[in-house]
Amino acid sequence: MDIINIKSEDWLKNAGICGLYNILCEAGDREKIQISYDEIIFPIELLENFSEKYFNYFIKTYQKTFSLYKIISTGKTLENWINNDFNDFNDKSLEILNSNIENFKKYMKSNSYKSAYKLIEGNFDPELEEKELKKIKLKKKENVEDRLEEIKHQVNLMKSIVDYFKSEEAIKYVGAKNSIYNIIRNAWDGVSFLNKQCKNPDMYSEYQEYFINPVIDYAKNYEEKKKTYKYQCISCSSKIKDLNSDVGFIREMGFDTGRKTSHVWDFNNYVGICPICKFIYSCVPAGINYVYNRGIFINYSMNMEDLFRINTSIRESILEEENSRISVFKSLQEAMNKKINDEVGYELSDIQVVRFYRDIDNDSIKYNFNIINKPVLNTINFCKNQLETIKKGSYIENDSYVYIYNEVIKKLLDNENQFLLIQKLLHYKLSMPDTTYYNAGVLASVLKLNVKYLQEVGYMEKSKSNSKDGKERDIIDEARKLGYHLQIAYNKMIAKDDNTENNNSKNNKKYNKKLNSIAYRMLNSLKTNNKHSFMDVLINSYMYVGKAIPKIFAENLDKDLEFKNIGYAFITGMIGYSKEDDEADSESLKKKN
Ligand SMILES: [Zn+2]
Repeated sequence: MDIINIKSEDWLKNAGICGLYNILCEAGDREKIQISYDEIIFPIELLENFSEKYFNYFIKTYQKTFSLYKIISTGKTLENWINNDFNDFNDKSLEILNSNIENFKKYMKSNSYKSAYKLIEGNFDPELEEKELKKIKLKKKENVEDRLEEIKHQVNLMKSIVDYFKSEEAIKYVGAKNSIYNIIRNAWDGVSFLNKQCKNPDMYSEYQEYFINPVIDYAKNYEEKKKTYKYQCISCSSKIKDLNSDVGFIREMGFDTGRKTSHVWDFNNYVGICPICKFIYSCVPAGINYVYNRGIFINYSMNMEDLFRINTSIRESILEEENSRISVFKSLQEAMNKKINDEVGYELSDIQVVRFYRDIDNDSIKYNFNIINKPVLNTINFCKNQLETIKKGSYIENDSYVYIYNEVIKKLLDNENQFLLIQKLLHYKLSMPDTTYYNAGVLASVLKLNVKYLQEVGYMEKSKSNSKDGKERDIIDEARKLGYHLQIAYNKMIAKDDNTENNNSKNNKKYNKKLNSIAYRMLNSLKTNNKHSFMDVLINSYMYVGKAIPKIFAENLDKDLEFKNIGYAFITGMIGYSKEDDEADSESLKKKN
């Protein structure tokens, strides 16, 4: 066969096909690929020098996350100092210089860099130059001018190192090393250039020999040869000669244990695959979209073109915003919104979200699988404004920032409601307000999204409005305002009781304390689904301020989920709601749009 065709299958195979597509597109071969509904077809000649295309894809796509790039990008700073003849070189500059020297040394001494040097021709010996690099520590009473000669020497040395790493060959080989350990090894390990016993130092020829040449051999006279082959590839069912090749090199086997629809699930390590499938699996790391230690792949098996399109748009946006911690899910949301707007009557239940995590501490990886069903997709699409507000909220947990947006989307993907999250957010707000960065507007948005989700999955009905316009009743806003009014009433009562209207700060503290303890008791009742104890607290509070208990609670007393959402919204208003919150939210929304 002169052409190779690969059929869409389970997510892992599809990620490999996506990877192959990305690699070939980057190499300018897009015109030569044919894509049908569930198949990709390409001439075998595209595999000549494929290893160059393979590594080139990773280097081009991920270079900004590589240590090589960190070295190269230092060049600008060095040049500035040299061009200004070190006139503005001060203590701060020395600090920058020293930290760069430290980084340079760390990278240049690493085994992966050292093995790349052997492949790069020329007289420059980076190992020797690295030893020359030395941080400059000023002694007491010394200043930068006293050590300027030394500083100049170090800067020039670094400049020559940067020039070395900027060369085509260094980018080719060090870039390939960075690709292997930062990206490729996320997906597979233990064979070819990732086999510790591998004798060939050149990853390019190694990849070509290990993965590509067998494909070319296999394809040659396949129709003739297959008559004598006894076995079958477990992935694509082609005939194979022996069972010497298996999928054991794929880390964690990429198993989605929850979805065993593919026959790939039945195989064990000793079951064979054909060279073409093995090659496709080697392209998996080019198909998954990675951001540092996380990754995402959307498996949309209905249509190849869509599979490529969705994943390309996700990759582009996560690489654009590499610093944004919410970018993976944000891009997912955008792709979903786009998708739902693009096609009417589109079958949504076939979108599988594969999330990847790498734990650097114990060198393990993990996949997480979700199916995006229609309720989730509708919720995401309907709650665009709420999600926009939620993006602004975060809190500190275990010394690191947690973004509420990420937590909300994760819960949605796991097909869970948001009650546990709301409970936690309100609890944190009461017990450690200093580490919470969200206002009542964010909380209300999570609640509104929660209501929408519960309606979409059919657990809650839409509340009818009392007014005649037939609009849906917004129980969240309603309850939140009631909570806020109770807060004001409390404030007045306490001021009156104490008769210390001139002393505002003292009042505030007092009313906060009292309202906080009420909020705690309400939260506990909601947590344990005890509507009656919630009502007890509520009735006592309203008796204290001498007001009637709002109807909304009695109206929903027999509806568990409605009551819970209303209860949380009420607490939100009681401890935080203010008009300013709302105005601030709409202001920043306006700016964004
Ligand atoms: Zn196969």
